[in-house]
Amino acid sequence: MNIILLGAPGAGKGSQATKLKEYYAIPHISTGDAFRSNIARGTEIGVYAKSFIDKGQLVPDDLTVKIVEERLSHDDCKNGFLLDGFPRSIPQAEALEKIAKIDYVINFVIDTEKVVKRLGGRRTCACGETYHVSTHPSNICDKCGKELYIRQDDNEETIRNRMAVYEKTTAPLVGFYKERGLVVDVDANGTIEETFQKIIELVK
Ligand code: AMP
Repeated sequence: MNIILLGAPGAGKGSQATKLKEYYAIPHISTGDAFRSNIARGTEIGVYAKSFIDKGQLVPDDLTVKIVEERLSHDDCKNGFLLDGFPRSIPQAEALEKIAKIDYVINFVIDTEKVVKRLGGRRTCACGETYHVSTHPSNICDKCGKELYIRQDDNEETIRNRMAVYEKTTAPLVGFYKERGLVVDVDANGTIEETFQKIIELVK
């Protein structure tokens, strides 16, 4: 099953991807994670991508599409994949149509203020796990024991920019995929478990 997780930053795509990859036994491909890994390793891609990410802007389409195309060519994607954070623009979606056939686009529907609150208190682990400071005040990851950190783009000004970019450039993808009959709307205001149950009911 080839699935796109579409939704505003902080809508919970990453948290759902962690559960869905186990449930469907398919890889989780996050362009945000790919960029952060490049930044951490100090690669040329990382240095270039960081200049956009730190401002809450999108990394240019050509580089982003190249990274996804390369990743989707790996053997572990043969039985399906979960795309998280890609595509994020119409040109990216058009490029993806030439690379792979998509079965479902899960559209995370969530209130903007909820997103700003979620991202403002988000604590991230290098293993991919995320927490909210209100429900997990400890600075240590329950899963792997590493120290949590605050993503550099999880500050209020950058969050607002990311939301504006989402509305202008990414939200039109809902219409793009609705025209193709691929969209499943999911209310993402609830808990991780509630949203997960809704998704697996709808995506069969
Ligand atoms: P995320 O972890 O998905 O919130 O992504 C973090 C940041 O990485 C975004 O705010 C963008 O700057 C960049 N990024 C991630 N995915 C894409 C994409 N598909 N196109 C362009 N930039 C992206």
